[in-house]
Formats: sequence, C-alpha cells, structure tokens
Amino acid sequence: MSSYDTDLLIVGGGPGGLATALQARRHGLSVIVAEPREDPIDKACGEGLMPGGLAELMSLGVDPAGMPFHGIAYVSEQRRAEALFRNGPGRGVRRTTLHATLQARAKEQDTEWIRTKVTSVEQDAHGVSAAGIRAKFLVGADGLHSTVRRCVGIKAAAGKPRRYGVRWHFTVPAWSEFVEVYWSRLGEAYVTPVEPDLVGVAILSQGRPDLAWFPRLARHLEGAGRGQARGCGPLRQVVSRRVAGRVLLVGDAAGYEDALTGEGVSLAVKQAAVAVNAIANETPAAYEAAWHRVTRNYRYLTRGVVLASTPRATRRAIVPACERLPGLFGFGVNILAS
Ligand SMILES: Cc1cc2nc3c(=O)[nH]c(=O)nc-3n(C[C@H](O)[C@H](O)[C@H](O)COP(=O)(O)OP(=O)(O)OC[C@H]3O[C@@H](n4cnc5c(N)ncnc54)[C@H](O)[C@@H]3O)c2cc1C
Repeated sequence: MSSYDTDLLIVGGGPGGLATALQARRHGLSVIVAEPREDPIDKACGEGLMPGGLAELMSLGVDPAGMPFHGIAYVSEQRRAEALFRNGPGRGVRRTTLHATLQARAKEQDTEWIRTKVTSVEQDAHGVSAAGIRAKFLVGADGLHSTVRRCVGIKAAAGKPRRYGVRWHFTVPAWSEFVEVYWSRLGEAYVTPVEPDLVGVAILSQGRPDLAWFPRLARHLEGAGRGQARGCGPLRQVVSRRVAGRVLLVGDAAGYEDALTGEGVSLAVKQAAVAVNAIANETPAAYEAAWHRVTRNYRYLTRGVVLASTPRATRRAIVPACERLPGLFGFGVNILAS
C-alpha cells in the first residue's frame, strides 16, 4: 500500500499549472502547487488571450480584467490586413492580473501551495515524489526550460529558427481594437491593448530587438513611458514526449513552437483539461494522443507561418498576401482563435 500527501502535485504556478489545479479540483482531486516565485508573477508575454482560451478560463470561473480585442491585424509600413474573430472577442490581460485572478480562484477551490523550486523528481510504480511531497501523479507545468522534463528523462532541444521574445509596456492610450502584428525585415512586434492607457509590445526575432525596425509603430509610441523589459527564449522547444510514468507535462514544458500566433496560454489551458482527464481516469499514457489532438492546429499553422516568413522574399509577401486574400487570412486566424 502506498500513502500520499496529495492526489496531484503540480510543479509551476503559471497559467498551465493553475489551470491544471482548477481542472483537478473540479474532478475532486486534492492538489498541491509548488512554485518558487512570489506573486504576482510576471513573464515575457504578448498578453493576448484568444477567444477559445478565454472561454475555457471563464468556464473555470476565471474572469480577469482586461481590454477586449476583436481580431488580428498584420501591419507593414504601407499595408494593413485585418481578420475579425467570428465567435466573440479575445482579451488583452496583463500577466500579473491573469496570475492574481487564477491564483485567487485556485485558493478559493482549496488548492494548497508550497513556495519552492523543484530540483528532483523520483517515481515508482505507485507514486511520484518531489519537494518532500508524495503524490499519485505529478504535472510538470514549469515552462519552456522545464526541470521536471529533464528530471524524468524526457528529451528536449531548442529548434530552428532560434527566436527570442522581449516585452515592454508603454503608457499610451490604446489605439486599436485589434492585436496588431507589425512586420519588419528583422522581426515582428506584437501589440496588445491591456488597459485603456497601457499597451504591451512584444518583439519576436532572431537577434537583439529594436523598436526602430518598426517606424509606423514607433510613431504611435512617441513620448510614451516604457516599462521594464522581460525576455525569454529560444522559443521553439521540440519535446520528444509528454508522459513518463506518472508524470505529465502541460503548457510550455510540453513543447512550444513560437509566440507569433499568440495562443500559448489558451493552449496551456486546453492541455490542462485533457491531462486531468487522463489522471482522473488513471490512464496517464492516454494524455500523449490527447495532447497531439488539442495542439495540432496550432503546431501546424504556427510552424507554417514561421517557416514561410523566414526567407526574405516570402517574408515581404506576408502582409500583402493577407491583404489580398482576406478570406484565407480570416480562416487561419479563426482556426487559431477557437
Ligand atoms: C514574447 C512572448 C509573447 C507571447 N505572447 C502570448 C500571447 O499574446 N498570448 C498567449 O496566450 N501566449 C503568449 N505567449 C506564450 C505564453 O506566455 C506561454 O505559453 C504561457 O506562459 C505558458 O504557461 P505555462 O504555465 O506553461 O508556463 P509559464 O508561464 O512559463 O509558467 C511556468 C511557472 O513554473 C515556475 N517554475 C519554473 N521552474 C520551476 C521549478 N523548478 N519548480 C517549481 N516551479 C517552477 C515558474 O516560476 C513559472 O511561474 C508568449 C510568449 C512569449 C515568449
């Protein structure tokens, strides 16, 4: 007989970990979250919640304050292509607001917390141990460079092209009801309204990011106060599998393509639902196929856009092509929004 401190130990209290906690509580599982950082937790992020992910969060009782956005616009110096969401708006939400709202809801649902960084994971046929806790199952939701992943021997490598993301906030009245993606030769700037007088700007690129790459955007930001920079990468993490015995990986820890299409949080929330189903059914291995199913559209579309935009000639053609083919652009955006 094995005795446990909890049904589920979750390593990482970001959106993936906390959505997993809420799903697990919904199934009546006891939950402990291990997270070393003091709240509210911030992170380099474009801060746009796609409509589908927002709906999943709302169904978990999580309704963070933010700014609605109604679609995605691709913008170059001369051109602009817009695609409206068909099924309601997404929402620009500061990471600190998202974290505070998720955490409050998880505490309301009797989730326990330990403030610690997990450095080792051990498992046997009956359970998993980490940070002095013995659990029936463990979810690693500890981000792009997951320690849990390494501890349980799941292989991961940074993929190509090697891209990085940096985010700032600018104090300026939000000027668009779209998340705008500005395209330049060297990178993309992803602009999300998060408060009436605050926009987030995340630059994605292979080199050191520079706002001067985007003169049209720089004009909007002239004279605005700029907050602290936050960065991370390399973004593409190719992960060989998501399950090792009683350990499951959720969110960025499970593998990541790129931030260009902006739905990492939505995906983490969807992965949380299928991971907890597998745990509640005591069939953890079933999660692998479920993960492939819920992430398929994102993996193919995001990889496709990143690869298409890597050679200079096709990169230049992206915004004009989206402007000329609004039906196709809208179709792609709405697949990712769902
Ligand atoms: C530049 C950029 C822009 C982006 N824009 C968007 C966007 O607009 N919309 C969107 O939905 N997504 C966006 N994303 C993606 C999104 O930020 C991630 O997909 C999302 O944060 C994943 O959540 P997570 O919980 O898996 O990981 P994280 O948010 O990274 O959380 C991991 C948590 O684990 C904790 N942790 C790490 N190691 C340990 C350990 N050893 N022990 C215990 N805890 C640990 C960390 O402290 C952290 O709190 C963007 C990403 C980047 C880089």
